[in-house]
Order: sequence, then C-alpha cells, then structure tokens
Amino acid sequence: MRYISTRGQAPALSFEEVVLTGMASDGGLYVPETVPQLSHEDLADMAGCSYAEIAFQVMKPYVDGEIDDDTFRAIVRDAYATFSHDAVVPLNQLDANHFLLELFHGPTLAFKDVALQLLGRILDHFLKKRGERAVIMGATSGDTGSAAIEGCRHCDNLDIFILHPHNRVSEVQRRQMTTVLADNVFNVAIEGNFDDAQAMVKASFADQGFLNGTRLVAVNSINWARIMAQIVYYVAAAVALGAPYRKVSFCVPSANFGNVFAGYMAHRMGLPVERFVIATNANDILHRTLADNDFSRQELVATLAPSMDIVVSSNFERLLFEAYERDGAAVAELLERFQSEPAALAEAPLARLRESFASHSVDDATILEVIREAHHRTQEILDPHTATGYRAAECERGAPTVPMVTLATAHPAKFAEAVVKAGFPGVPLPPHMDDLLEREERYTVLPAELAEVQKFVADNRR
Ligand SMILES: *Cc1c(COP(=O)(O)O)cnc(C)c1O
Repeated sequence: MRYISTRGQAPALSFEEVVLTGMASDGGLYVPETVPQLSHEDLADMAGCSYAEIAFQVMKPYVDGEIDDDTFRAIVRDAYATFSHDAVVPLNQLDANHFLLELFHGPTLAFKDVALQLLGRILDHFLKKRGERAVIMGATSGDTGSAAIEGCRHCDNLDIFILHPHNRVSEVQRRQMTTVLADNVFNVAIEGNFDDAQAMVKASFADQGFLNGTRLVAVNSINWARIMAQIVYYVAAAVALGAPYRKVSFCVPSANFGNVFAGYMAHRMGLPVERFVIATNANDILHRTLADNDFSRQELVATLAPSMDIVVSSNFERLLFEAYERDGAAVAELLERFQSEPAALAEAPLARLRESFASHSVDDATILEVIREAHHRTQEILDPHTATGYRAAECERGAPTVPMVTLATAHPAKFAEAVVKAGFPGVPLPPHMDDLLEREERYTVLPAELAEVQKFVADNRR
C-alpha cells in the first residue's frame, strides 16, 4: 500500500514512512492510494469477533505486511487491553433506534485513546526495528495531550514533551497528564496561552536543528495511523447492529474532522452506511460549509465543549480530496484561497458531499438543555461533546428504520463543569481514577520562549 498527498506534489510513501512523517512536504495530508475493500462475506465473518480481532482484520491491508501479522495482532491486543470495558467500545441503547457508541473507556476517558494507544505502540515498533529514537512534541488544551502521554508512557524509543498553557487547563485534564511519572514523559506548563504553546511546537517542526538529527514525530490527527485506528469502531458498531445485512447511520461530534473522516473511510471500504451526521458546537465551519457553502474562517468561540473549539478543520482536506475526485491541484488551489479569503466549494464536489453528509450546529444553551433532556429520557448523563451529537442525531435522523449511532466521545466526569451547569451535582471519576486528585504531579514551568523550550527538550530527551 502506497500513501499519496492530498495536494498531489509530495512523494508517495509506505505505511512505515507515513506513520513517521506526519504532514506531506507539499503541505498536504497523506491518504491511501487505493481503498481496500471489505466484502459482504468479510463483514458477515466479523459477527461475534472480539474488538481486537475486528481491528486486526480492518487495519491489516493498510499496514500491508510492514508489521508481520503475529506482531501486529499482539500490538493491537495490547493496545485495547488498556480499556476498562470488555467490549472496548460498547453500544448503549437510548431508544428504539438510537444508540450511543461509548468511545470513552480508555485510560484518559476520551475517544482519542482508541487511536493513541495504538499509534504509540506502532511508532515504538518501527523505531526499535530501525534502531532509532524519536521525540514527540505536542501542544494541548486538554484531551490530546493526556491521550498521547498515556499512549507513549511505555514506549522505550520515544520521549514525549507536551506543552500546556500554565493555569489554563482544568485540574482533571492537567492531572491526567502531570501524574504520569514515567521517565520518558515531560510536561511543560507554558507561561502563555494555548496559541503560544502551539506556535512553539509548529516552529520546532519547521526547524528541527535543535534536536541534532533526532526525528521529531507528530501525533495529531494528521497522522494517518490515527485515522486508520478509528475506522475500526465504525465497522465494529455496524457489525454489532447487523451489517452487512442492515445499514446504519452515524452522528459524530466533530472538530478537526479526523473522527468522521474515519467513518467515511469505513463506508468507502464497503460498510453499508446510510448517512453521516456532523455535529458541531458554535465553531461551525463544517456545518456552514455543508449547509450554505460558506467555507470561511470565523473567530474562535470558547464553548462548553472545548475539545471541539476550532477555527479550521485540518482533516477536512482529506474529504475534499475525495470530493474533488482526487484532483490534488484543485484541492491545493481551494485551500490556498481559503487562507486569505472566504471560499466556496465547486458545485459538483459539494453535491457529492451532500449525498453522504448532513450537519447540525449546537450552541451552549442547547448543550445544557440536551444534557437535561437526555437524562430525563434515558437516565444517561452525556458529556457536552456527546450532547451536540445527540441533538444533531435527533434533528437529522433520516429513515426511522435505520439505526442511528451517536459517537460518545468523552466520559461526562471529564467535563463536569458543563454537567454541573446543566443542574446535576457532578459525575464521579471511574474507580481506576478516583485518587487522581491526590496523586503526585510532575511538570516544569517555562516562559513562552522558543529557545528555552527547545533547550529543555534537547537537554532532557534520553
Ligand atoms: C478531539 C475531540 C473531538 C473532535 O474530534 P475530531 O476528530 O477532531 O473531529 C470531539 N470530542 C472530544 C471529546 C474530543 O476530545
């Protein structure tokens, strides 16, 4: 399997190279050159299989023998053994035909664990084989940082440095990062805001000289392996609900579009899906683009669903590449225009997108209303991200005979602020985390100065 860039200019890469590379040299994102197919029979044979076995089957063609089958099976099994539920991602029925796919049973209680538990292990495998070490750098305002740290804490060949804005991350989110006391984990609290932290990470990727040749790896959702890992739960959920004999729809709380793009890939692989509903919070570029062909930046709004607070959806480029029938030049042209002015999609690509995707935007007041309403109707307390999905699913449901699966992207205990605002006393952390507030923390406070941060990384990597 070769991987090609959405902008058509960068060299094609193998799986191993694409996992270690991140963004393509032409500014595009890597996608597989061909889409492997799951036949009717393949899907039928998955009935009753464990999540790890389905994961192995779905991902095998993307890995394409670059990790031998036995080793890859063991990596997958290990990654999902860290989840606290035997089903890994259990389905929870809400009403006659609406289901929650609970993606929050991993170590940090959000869906990013599904991809990052696997990615850390795959990176470690390739680095060990090459006799190399690598440094991971990332900036976080919450979910991604803790999931990346949990995914890498046992990786001998990786050192991970996560920058968060000092005193601007919730206590639970900070402690999920800073209480991991492994030798290869470095938390840096930056005296500045998230954008300062993000800018320093970007500058470090652009000029890696400070690492004297050690590879710097990105674990954000531009990394293809993260998308690949997320394809699996769409397949597992659909099979549990009767695929290949019955279609399902999915509703996905979305920000950078990595999650829902993985669903689209599952569909392209042959999974029978009626439609995808994209849920956004008030940061609604995806909804504006689909509903009104308004592909433009707007000011960032801080919402009750902070992990969906974005201005631009980085992975939307991967879908545009498909909508423009893999015309990399057209994608590059559109995205260049978008950088400087409001843009619009051409008619045919937009029509193609509207065949598979509906969308709905949910504001903060509605998030609180939905948390109360869903509890009244089902006894479930939804986290604020999942609440956007619940409402979007109800509004854009389509045929009532098609099961609707809303992706529950975080555990409500992780976003207790919104739950309390909705009028509930709060949600306890699950048992394996109930001493989080007493655990020892370790982090270093640094000024928002690139040279100091880079010196810290260079001095501390092993
Ligand atoms: C990251 C995140 C999202 C958004 O996912 P994308 O793949 O960026 O679209 C939604 N909900 C939660 C809880 C998240 O952490």
